[in-house]
Amino acid sequence: MSGVKVWIDQDLCTGDGICEEVAPAIFFGAEDGLYYVREANTEVPAEPTHSFHEPVDVPDNLLEATIEAAEECPGECIFLDVD
Ligand code: SF4
Repeated sequence: MSGVKVWIDQDLCTGDGICEEVAPAIFFGAEDGLYYVREANTEVPAEPTHSFHEPVDVPDNLLEATIEAAEECPGECIFLDVD
């Protein structure tokens, strides 16, 4: 793991899906039209398991894409926490 965690503030999410386009192994869209993080490289859950301040670990190989998603997020609602 990279020592970095990521979470999304769904209150600010515009639902455009850019995060999933950039890093589909960690971001996904749910039925409510908002986007969520999930444990990296696991199957997309039927319902979100992590929302708001509940982060997931970012593996080393997804760190660059996760940072890019946060930079491109129009809602500025993807947050990275460093241990
Ligand atoms: S890029 Fe940001 S605003 Fe767009 S869907 Fe993802 S979290 Fe929401």
